[in-house]
Amino acid sequence: MLAILYGATRSASAFSSTKPSVPWRNWSGGVVAFPKARFSATSEEQLADFMASTNGAVRPVGSGHSFSPLVPTDGHLIVIDQLAGLLDHDSKTLTATFGAGTRLGDIGRVLEAAGQAMFNLPDIDRQTLAGATATATHGTGIAFKCLSGYVNRLRLVTPSGDLLDVDAASDPDLFNAARVSVGALGIVTRMSLRNRLPFRLKQKSWVEKTEDLLDAFDEHAAVYRHFEIFPLTHSDYAIALSTEETDDPVKNPPATPEEEAAFDEAMRGWMAVAPGERRPLVNALAEQIEPSERIDASYKILTNIRNSRFNEMEYSVPIAAGAPCIKEILKTISDKKIDVVFPLEYRYVSRDDTWLSMSSGHEDHASISIHRTASQDYRPYFDLIEPIFWKYGGRPHWGKIHSLGADQLSKLYPEFERFLEIRASLDPQGRMLNDHLRKLFGVTT
Ligand SMILES: Cc1cc2nc3c(=O)[nH]c(=O)nc-3n(C[C@H](O)[C@H](O)[C@H](O)COP(=O)(O)OP(=O)(O)OC[C@H]3O[C@@H](n4cnc5c(N)ncnc54)[C@H](O)[C@@H]3O)c2cc1C
Repeated sequence: MLAILYGATRSASAFSSTKPSVPWRNWSGGVVAFPKARFSATSEEQLADFMASTNGAVRPVGSGHSFSPLVPTDGHLIVIDQLAGLLDHDSKTLTATFGAGTRLGDIGRVLEAAGQAMFNLPDIDRQTLAGATATATHGTGIAFKCLSGYVNRLRLVTPSGDLLDVDAASDPDLFNAARVSVGALGIVTRMSLRNRLPFRLKQKSWVEKTEDLLDAFDEHAAVYRHFEIFPLTHSDYAIALSTEETDDPVKNPPATPEEEAAFDEAMRGWMAVAPGERRPLVNALAEQIEPSERIDASYKILTNIRNSRFNEMEYSVPIAAGAPCIKEILKTISDKKIDVVFPLEYRYVSRDDTWLSMSSGHEDHASISIHRTASQDYRPYFDLIEPIFWKYGGRPHWGKIHSLGADQLSKLYPEFERFLEIRASLDPQGRMLNDHLRKLFGVTT
């Protein structure tokens, strides 16, 4: 039997109501969907029962922080918020298993109490474990893989309702496919992570010429545990962030509302000036930004709160192509006088052995992001920049805006065809596909 949301017990057909659907929106507001209904699973068995007893379209949703239309469905939206929290941990192997609906921001403190910490985190921590790994979400650091690279084992509810425990020993192919699956192989319900002992980080931020930071990037990336830069548009400067382990005492005062508002205010000031005339103004303001330093537990330093809504395109390119690629993007923004004030983001990510991560394969990657305020139309800007990424052999972030389909993607990922075979064998009816995934995987039926 199926226990549905609000504790009611109904059959699957009874669940398929004809009530008007409640719209779903992603974080940036750029993607909207009208699912027939939401199915909020309260247990793995109940979810398996639902999948086995229904045959319509389904899409799993995490916290809706993807910019690309991975989640929309006019069938059932599968919500696993309730499959969350620490399930078990082992202090000898430094591994821990979480419900896959756990938000990254709910992991740090719990792991710390269990004597563990995640190796790395992305820029924010609002994502769910399942959602973040499905798109190969990553942080920065040449020594660190995307989050999927630290998954030891996962449990998958397949489209036909089977429960599979998958790891490298039991089924290496499915393991490599399912760790970055864009939610096309089934619903992930739990994940076991390889961790390390808790640690403290010191993060420094300063402003320097973009050209100099790019010249020294490899050196900084080798010295610091994490290093990244945020090149300012229509400017010669970038904000640099270096992060290293420390035993120094915690020093992490919360940003004052004035500080938080300062950058937004500066950006508004820049916008008032025509892009072609902005450089002296932005340079002058950049030169006034004071260096800063903060120290705290790793999970508090690695992630940020992003209050301003935006849309984003991110591609990863082989490291050797990183600096030329970002320089060409900055020059294009300047030459074409594109009216964008959002900084770019430039970071390194280690190679890994999943099939579809942006850094999978034999070389480490540089990832480059461009952003557009959510209230503005991102298309003209992103359309102009995207071919530059292609020129340098870029692979798009699955969770961010891009326009590639199966023809191009199959050339970027050596194991793409094998992924498609596994997808088709697990989901022959294509119930986990939406229009976007059909395009990604070249499915025409
Ligand atoms: C402000 C902001 C900052 C960001 N920073 C970074 C960053 O630093 N690095 C980076 O790499 N990315 C970053 N991202 C992108 C973000 O990490 C990814 O898009 C991530 O996939 C979002 O996770 P989510 O939980 O919101 O999942 P959703 O966006 O809801 O879903 C993402 C994918 O996961 C699938 N999925 C969800 N749950 C399941 C499940 N249980 N089983 C199977 N599949 C599932 C969905 O179907 C979908 O395909 C950022 C996004 C935002 C908005």
